[in-house]
Amino acid sequence: MNQWQLGDVKITRVVESEAPWPGGWLLPNATAENVQKENWLHPIFADESGKLRMSIHAYVIESHGKRIVVDTCIGNDKKRANPAWNELHGPFLGDLAKAGYAPESIDHVICTHLHVDHVGWNTIIRDGKWVATFTNARYLVERTEWDYWSRYEKDNMRDPVEDSVRPIVQGGLVDMIDPDHRVTDEVWLEPTPGHTPGHMSVRISSRGREAVISGDLMHHPIQCAHPEWESSFDYDMNAARRTRRDFLERYADRDVLVFGTHFATPSCGKIVTSGGSFRFVAAK
Ligand SMILES: [Zn+2]
Repeated sequence: MNQWQLGDVKITRVVESEAPWPGGWLLPNATAENVQKENWLHPIFADESGKLRMSIHAYVIESHGKRIVVDTCIGNDKKRANPAWNELHGPFLGDLAKAGYAPESIDHVICTHLHVDHVGWNTIIRDGKWVATFTNARYLVERTEWDYWSRYEKDNMRDPVEDSVRPIVQGGLVDMIDPDHRVTDEVWLEPTPGHTPGHMSVRISSRGREAVISGDLMHHPIQCAHPEWESSFDYDMNAARRTRRDFLERYADRDVLVFGTHFATPSCGKIVTSGGSFRFVAAK
């Protein structure tokens, strides 16, 4: 668990899994050879063999007495095409509770987008039915995102919507929001479309301290050096590239702590300009 205090806002990271992944599956340009060329990534964000260190985690933000979970990982018991993510039985909910956040104490759940690794803990199985994990929370879902995925029919990208989002919509637990929705006066959303149609980042500001949770507009810090590198799962690659570059330009060389949704421990740092492109400097 990592924890940060930014002004009056507390941010806590709860990890579901963390491991080195061969980069090419997610970022086709991130071959071992290309990763090894970026020696600034080593050892925090890449290993010796040129694998990318990746993490799947949630953040809990505390602001004005509200407890806000951002992104709910893969979840337990879900049938998934990816064998590494299929029918997991991990300790995430216990870890969340140990960090002080019992599921019933959560006020808001934000999914930056509706992909498999961002919605999983929205629901748990009870008597063969998917029910809300966070029973007292309002789940905030961006309306364009729901519109797109709720009608999506092509392949197993739809499964997480059916078992992890539709049950909470049907249960009346969802507020459909615009992508610039404000949760508290310290926490608001910022539209960053491209990876998915209604993708959002989360902005945090308190007493002069600034932070942003990127979501999957970048999957790995190597995309700071190569904003043109697409992810295999970008819905609109050109829009995603534009959003990524805009984001890097907007936050580079500023005192803004950038939290990556899949960045390895410590999972946050600063974007800096470097030779016509960018680098990511991990927080100490
Ligand atoms: Zn993701």
